[in-house]
Amino acid sequence: MSESSRLIICEYCDSVYERQQLGTHQRAHCRRCGALLDRRPWLTVDQSLALSATAGLLLAFVCFYPVLYIYVRDQSGSATLLDAVLALFNGPVSVMGMTMACAVILVPATQIGLLVWLLAFARNQRHAPGFRPCMRLLEVLRPWSMLEVFLLGALVAVVKLTGRIDTAPAAGLFALATLSFLMVGVAGRDVRMLWDQLS
Ligand SMILES: [Zn+2]
Repeated sequence: MSESSRLIICEYCDSVYERQQLGTHQRAHCRRCGALLDRRPWLTVDQSLALSATAGLLLAFVCFYPVLYIYVRDQSGSATLLDAVLALFNGPVSVMGMTMACAVILVPATQIGLLVWLLAFARNQRHAPGFRPCMRLLEVLRPWSMLEVFLLGALVAVVKLTGRIDTAPAAGLFALATLSFLMVGVAGRDVRMLWDQLS
């Protein structure tokens, strides 16, 4: 094991520790600030790859299938994730549309593409071409993915509109909820295991 992979640095207070082999449910915490330092990944490389591919399919589904149905008198309408972004683009503050497009479509799509690229090589114990920049980009993108924020907004809209007009959650909303959980699992801290597994 190289010197750098033998050591572990707390993200919050920069304390340096020697990495310990952890059991299945064990976690390592920083002695100074209590932050989580390390734990055994929940998913294997193959499981992460399968879930990343599933996340890609779900993102495509959410973009083109309705998230919400609205019924007003004799008329009905529906909205997909793409419709929501385009509505903001065409509204008075189009910069909000660009921000939303990045946060709920472009960033998650880039994360999924990078994950599939890295994990497809990692399952053969190989570094993907561009491994380091791809891993760093994944780390940079993580805070900018806001699918769960959009999900909360959609749920609040369903609750608030109930009573004024008839609304009903559509298949896209359930796909969005599943996608949000998947992204937390596959694009979270566990992807850092690739640095150690392939070193
Ligand atoms: Zn610390």
